[in-house]
Amino acid sequence: MAEKLFLEVVTPQKAVVSEEAEIVVAPGSEGEFGALKGHTTFLTSLNMGTLRYKDANGKERLLFINGGFAEVLPNKVTILAESAERRQDIDVNRAQEAKGRAEQRLGTKAANLDLVRAEAALRRAIDRIRVAGMK
Ligand code: ATP
Repeated sequence: MAEKLFLEVVTPQKAVVSEEAEIVVAPGSEGEFGALKGHTTFLTSLNMGTLRYKDANGKERLLFINGGFAEVLPNKVTILAESAERRQDIDVNRAQEAKGRAEQRLGTKAANLDLVRAEAALRRAIDRIRVAGMK
């Protein structure tokens, strides 16, 4: 049996994950990284993307995370994310609606369009739909 570390995924709204994991794979801003028990301590920012881990029963779990920070300690990984949802908690209809709204805004070319904000909303929606469809 692989030795386990403790994984916490926290957002400003809630604790999303708090359980033991065999391995955690996260979208670090310097590239995807994996952490097993005993990993050297480090701190990194995170990109938007998929956080994967194997739970204590060896079952693979997936989450969407919207950027943030990871602190890796030898026996614990803490993820502080802007927002995060477990794959099965992603509301695909909501994400489709968010995608539609963002596309509509981007299509208007309005003078007061906040391009960065609209593009970020579109990326979140597309990524949520992608993670929800992953096996
Ligand atoms: P929306 O426009 O639908 O609110 P958003 O990308 O602006 O989407 P966020 O600001 O990233 O939303 O997240 C706000 C809160 O709503 C967070 O708690 C996040 O986990 C949750 N959330 C957003 N979209 C979804 C979704 N499709 N399914 C489940 N939870 C979601």
